Amino acid sequence: MSSTAEYYAEQLRSADLRVTRPRVAVLEAVYAHPHADTETILDAVRAGLPDVSRQAVYDVLHALTAAGLVRRIQPSGSVARYESRVGDNHHHLVCRTCGTIADVDCAVGEAPCLTASDHNGFEVDEAEVIYWGLCPDCAASQTSRSQP
Ligand SMILES: [Zn+2]
Ligand SMILES: [Zn+2]
Repeated sequence: MSSTAEYYAEQLRSADLRVTRPRVAVLEAVYAHPHADTETILDAVRAGLPDVSRQAVYDVLHALTAAGLVRRIQPSGSVARYESRVGDNHHHLVCRTCGTIADVDCAVGEAPCLTASDHNGFEVDEAEVIYWGLCPDCAASQTSRSQP
């Protein structure tokens, strides 16, 4: 096993998950492609394990997410995306035009990060924030289109 594969195997063991080749391959794909959708992860996994089924990849993603090794985000209008950056309460910038997603650090450094003006009696432990707008590429192409 290569040292990177050993790193992913260690991640699985630390979460009490049995180490299997599909699990290692999916973790590796999520690390290599931040905010990737299931199709991208499936393609990346099949590059190394051509026989793995779509359902197997779905199942592994579910298990990794449940174990906290992978974070699942789903901006409205987007399919589910997966990332390996977990546990730091970071937020996301999403481009309205092309759907590009970028990370943005937690506003104050720790969850819940933002305080609701009225908790309604809930004990809040997380604020999930999505900043919507235009990515630099889309903003630039929009400017150039309006100036013929
Ligand atoms: Zn864009
Ligand atoms: Zn992220």
